[in-house]
Amino acid sequence: RQEQYRALRERPAETADGTPVSLQINAGLLVDLPQLKDSGAAGIGLFRTELQFMVASSMPRASEQEQLYAAVLDAAGERPVTFRTLDIGGDKVLPYLRQSPEENPALGYRAIRLALDRPGLMRTQLRALLKAAAGRELRIMFPMITEISELRQARDLINREFQYLTKFGHVMPRRLKLGAMIEVPSLLFQLDPLMQLVDFVSIGSNDLFQFFTATDRGNARIASRFDPLSAPFFRALKRILDAGARNGVPVTLCGELAGRPLSAMALVGLGFRSISMTSSAIGPVKAMLVTLDLPKLEALIAEILEDGAGIGPSVRERLQAFAEA
Ligand code: PEP
Ligand code: MG
Repeated sequence: RQEQYRALRERPAETADGTPVSLQINAGLLVDLPQLKDSGAAGIGLFRTELQFMVASSMPRASEQEQLYAAVLDAAGERPVTFRTLDIGGDKVLPYLRQSPEENPALGYRAIRLALDRPGLMRTQLRALLKAAAGRELRIMFPMITEISELRQARDLINREFQYLTKFGHVMPRRLKLGAMIEVPSLLFQLDPLMQLVDFVSIGSNDLFQFFTATDRGNARIASRFDPLSAPFFRALKRILDAGARNGVPVTLCGELAGRPLSAMALVGLGFRSISMTSSAIGPVKAMLVTLDLPKLEALIAEILEDGAGIGPSVRERLQAFAEA
């Protein structure tokens, strides 16, 4: 198997009929970086900046943040890196950051909610990102956006930092691209105005599915009760893809779904041309991709999307039968 994946590394990531799909990795620490080259991935689709904060015993200084971001960009070279701003709070606890206990941490004071209330924290991070990316392309996305005003506020913070640094003569990124993560279902019903404010969106399917089905992603007892390979969830994903196409905004997905070959297959069938996953999944997903008969899969997905009653074999079973045929 390992041999087979290594042989695939140099091969372009495309379906049997030649449709390219960008396969990227999720990362968060310096130790993840060698995986970028080893896996042959196209870039880092999700850089979880909170990991540096979670492994530290005190708040990382601005200079330490900047150093990490610059090292990541150095290692990536020409390959794009998408930095996600701090996604802390909820279950991602920082021992040195005081937080009140919460009944429902997943629904609580976390991610962009916390960041907008503590602009000092957010501005330090944004400044570190802007400085680290001097002369290069910088892609930043915001987690847990629930309404569009949050995105506006986040963009304002970036603009302020940009102007501040420019005033003091810093070299700014060559290009700045801003995105929102789609993880909260409320965004599904404001997709057009959302798309007008961003350069890209990335679906966090772990959280989106958690909130879509009201199922705690960390609770083993219910974790396998509902299947993301289902018509309703596919319709949600398709809705996002359609809005992206309508507005000329690229849509990617960076949750765990992207890293399981059967789910990744379904995502490509739905229309995703860029997905980001744990680095060890690149080989298996690429192995699936290069043998994929896309037109045939698209016909099956269209059938699933139209299927009203959900009687008969499950979506997973139908996809499995397709994959084995
Ligand atoms: C997600 O929610 O799918 C995601 C990629 O973010 P995280 O797993 O870090 O919450
Ligand atoms: Mg998430």
